[in-house]
Amino acid sequence: MHELSLMNNLLTDAIAAANGAPLRALKVRVGPLSGVVIESLQFAFDALTPGTPAEGARLDIEETAPLFHCPHCQTSYTTPVGNYQCPACLATDGELRGGCELDLISIEVPDHV
Ligand SMILES: [Zn+2]
Repeated sequence: MHELSLMNNLLTDAIAAANGAPLRALKVRVGPLSGVVIESLQFAFDALTPGTPAEGARLDIEETAPLFHCPHCQTSYTTPVGNYQCPACLATDGELRGGCELDLISIEVPDHV
């Protein structure tokens, strides 16, 4: 389960960004092609946070769609997984530009620390 080490990295970044403040929430963006299982990520979060500034924090997960760029008509488009056709010219050899990401987007800390 590589989500455990991935979540560990995300948590390290979030805790560093909070600069000593307790974390209320973390927002993470997960691409559908990242191979990350959302449930496992949540499980890893619950397993890793006790005893850290992120204990009791909320994990917000934003799932993205695969992002493609069409080399023929220069359209950028997102598609459901399994359908890679360009909506403008119907080419099927679009270049994958996104959907594999696992990024920490934002953190929430209390207003007064
Ligand atoms: Zn196209």
